[in-house]
Amino acid sequence: MKRTPDPTPAPIASTLGTSQMIAAVAALVITCVVLIAYQLLDMRHGLTEGARVQAAIVADSVTAPLMFGDQEAARDVLRAFRYAPGLRAIGIYDKDGRLFAEFAYPDSHLPARQPAAGASPDGVVTVTETVRLRNNVLGQIVLQTSTGRVRAAMLRYLGLLAVASLLAMLAVAVLSRKTRARVAAAERKLDYMAHTDHVTQLPNRHSTYARLAVDLERARARGQQLALLLVDLDNFKVVNDTAGHAAGDELLKQVATALLGAVRATDLVGRIGGDEFAIVAWPVADRATALAVADQVTRALRRPFQLESGEFFATASVGLCLYPNDAASMSELVSSADTALYHAKHGGRNRLAEFVPAMTAATQRRAALERELRHAIEQRQLALHYQPQFECAGGALAGVEALLRWRHPEHGLVSPAEFIPIAEDSGLIVQLGSWVLHRACQDVMAWDRAGAPALTLAVNMSARQLREPGFIDDVMRALALSGLPPERLELELTESVLMEDVAGAVAFMQAARALGVRLSIDDFGTGYSSLAYLQSFPINQLKVDRSFVQLLPQRGETVIHAILALAHGFGLSVVAEGVEDQAQLDWLRAAGCEMVQGFLLGKPMPPQDFAARYLALAPAG
Ligand code: C2E
Ligand code: MG
Ligand code: MG
Repeated sequence: MKRTPDPTPAPIASTLGTSQMIAAVAALVITCVVLIAYQLLDMRHGLTEGARVQAAIVADSVTAPLMFGDQEAARDVLRAFRYAPGLRAIGIYDKDGRLFAEFAYPDSHLPARQPAAGASPDGVVTVTETVRLRNNVLGQIVLQTSTGRVRAAMLRYLGLLAVASLLAMLAVAVLSRKTRARVAAAERKLDYMAHTDHVTQLPNRHSTYARLAVDLERARARGQQLALLLVDLDNFKVVNDTAGHAAGDELLKQVATALLGAVRATDLVGRIGGDEFAIVAWPVADRATALAVADQVTRALRRPFQLESGEFFATASVGLCLYPNDAASMSELVSSADTALYHAKHGGRNRLAEFVPAMTAATQRRAALERELRHAIEQRQLALHYQPQFECAGGALAGVEALLRWRHPEHGLVSPAEFIPIAEDSGLIVQLGSWVLHRACQDVMAWDRAGAPALTLAVNMSARQLREPGFIDDVMRALALSGLPPERLELELTESVLMEDVAGAVAFMQAARALGVRLSIDDFGTGYSSLAYLQSFPINQLKVDRSFVQLLPQRGETVIHAILALAHGFGLSVVAEGVEDQAQLDWLRAAGCEMVQGFLLGKPMPPQDFAARYLALAPAG
């Protein structure tokens, strides 16, 4: 296994444990203080009440001795209380406040004059009770009782409380330990989920870039080189669309394993997007080492993958950028690797592109074109050119293909091969395509009204247009507004357009056919050329790519014969594009091709030129 994400500590669990313990101790301390205070007050109250009852009993029993001045009898009464718990001293004062009789333990004598109310020696509670006989005050009883019993009871209580608290803390500690373990496990799981792609188990985008930043910092500190490879699968969407998401996931897993097998032990592989992977190769001794890693990667992905639905070729486009030679910072490294990847993809896929500074210039031109393309429609810089299509057998003009042109104020005519991909990537193609469709339908109907023969109109479509929910409505609108009969409109789709979203393409094609619109496959033979789709897609026509036609008549016959046989077998007609010389035309006619199109018979030209040349219509104003 290559590098795995750094194990991160479980901070919540440990803080949770400490804070739980602190909270438990605080709660326990508060509870203990309240309980002790309450207990103390309660015991003191009980002690005072007990003393007051004793004093009241004495007061009732000494009325006679006090009235008759019988001190001996009074002392006898007092002595009877000697066993009262806690008693220190008890005395009778006559109504003048002189000590009349007393019983006291040796260390606790009462003063000769009655003490002021509330005056009490330490550790002693004093209560007084008035001795009365029929509302006449005869004297006062003063009773002093020791608080020692309360103290002893309090000590026992505190001991009990300490034991209970200790047990409670023990229970909290055990519980908190369990909670901590559970939280730590949940934390580890969350951390794993936040940093790992769940399909491939590789570090995810966030984690990969975080690791790249760390590695880059280390490379910088040690003066080492680092290579970033961005890997984009070429045909992932095809698997997902044709074999389902489970097959797509399986492919991603196998690709992840293949990548891990291709890189070195020190390299990091992460999944940074749907079908995009990043490889951080660090350290690399030189450019050759980085290229060797990249080469291993492209080779590993060129091999077929075994999926349940069959063998599959994923192939990948790879962009490579080297630190510090090609980029000085992380953002530059990522964006330059991305630029290289873009070039690998647009250079025909299944290849490696090394970043070179010239790519930046190309990317900048692209970005500028994209900005300007947004205004091209409103500034009337877009135009349509028309190329004639002829019947092979009789040579009659049968239709036209509308081809978009951009008259750029600075760069002159920009080729659709350059700006259509930009329009596709930026989504502008939806607006451009709609303009082309409406404009072309109107041009053809203008020729009709001027008396030209009824031509079919071929219009090129992009994948993005097909995915646009309202696209079929736009086709209907273009037909209705121009009055072009649906069977004279032919939409050209490329094989890659169809394979990008098979289900969506089929739905669109069925809707278009239901309108009566014809469908043809452009550049046939350069893409997947799958027999399966010829059977399942509701198409009318194939356009043989010009690269095959140009080989005629010496080479390429086998391929074109095969395409013709295949198309005719499925009941489809065939158009040969790019016919440039007579020998090619003769060969195609003899082979039974239905239609031809090419520079030999007519180049794409502005509508007024087309009308004048092929329709013998005078140029309109
Ligand atoms: P395509 O649809 O395959 O168009 C045929 C291309 O071959 C045209 O290039 C045409 O000028 C060129 N061609 C025709 N006959 C010959 C020949 O005999 N020899 C040679 N060498 N070339 C010939 P163009 O106009 O540059 O268009 C390039 C591509 O741009 C088109 O290929 C089409 O895929 C795309 N495109 C053009 N207009 C539109 C449009 O309105 N919408 C979309 N989505 N794509 C368009
Ligand atoms: Mg075309
Ligand atoms: Mg073509």
